[in-house]
Amino acid sequence: MKLTNDQIERYKGQINLKKINIQGQIKLKKQKVLIIGVGGIGSPVALYLARAGIYEFGIIDYDNVNISNLHRQVLFNQVDVGKKKVIVTKKKIQMIDKKIKIKTFDIKVDKQNLKKIIKDYDYIIDGTDNFKSKLNINDECLRQRKKLFVGSVSQFDAHIFFFDFTKKGPCLRCFMPKPPSNVPRCQDDGIVGTVTGMAGIIICNEVIKNIVEIFSDLKGKVLIINLENLLFRKVKIKISKICNNHG
Ligand SMILES: [Zn+2]
Repeated sequence: MKLTNDQIERYKGQINLKKINIQGQIKLKKQKVLIIGVGGIGSPVALYLARAGIYEFGIIDYDNVNISNLHRQVLFNQVDVGKKKVIVTKKKIQMIDKKIKIKTFDIKVDKQNLKKIIKDYDYIIDGTDNFKSKLNINDECLRQRKKLFVGSVSQFDAHIFFFDFTKKGPCLRCFMPKPPSNVPRCQDDGIVGTVTGMAGIIICNEVIKNIVEIFSDLKGKVLIINLENLLFRKVKIKISKICNNHG
């Protein structure tokens, strides 16, 4: 795979970076990324990865754009209210570069459909807002040995995880064995738009680094951010003895 002259011009800023270079840009062009949930986290992930030179995406979301989404879901504008998120996302991403291939899935994820969809992608980004889906996505990514990035936000707080299931290591279930009970959806609990944006952009940054083979200190860890007090800390996740995924 080569870059066209237009692409060399478009990505000059990244190509000039020694750690990315033309080789890294070609690696970005070859990868397939699946974004599950184009909400507050999925929006910046899609926008920044498309701008960074990813040319193949899968986008999963069953929802329509709601006016209450607009304060944090930066893919959407007032004119999009009522439209299918996957349709608007495809249109917006192809406005960045019409050569980008996008497969859309207007579905709610479950164990069965995840099995079929995940296999076609190298990187999976979980931007869903419920723990049941998160654990299902985790289990299937592990089974298929994919690279999984997970974002979770509430109020001023964000949790960002990176699991590289191509190698032995912990999974999300080691950190959280079961969906916690009575957890409100982020919108009901209150959420600041900048927190979801920050979580999405950090995930993008780590995906780009991983593709171009720059060391990521997030692998097997969770980055916990509090943007009210500007606190950032990384916590290593150990393989849990009670997690059935590592038997
Ligand atoms: Zn585990």
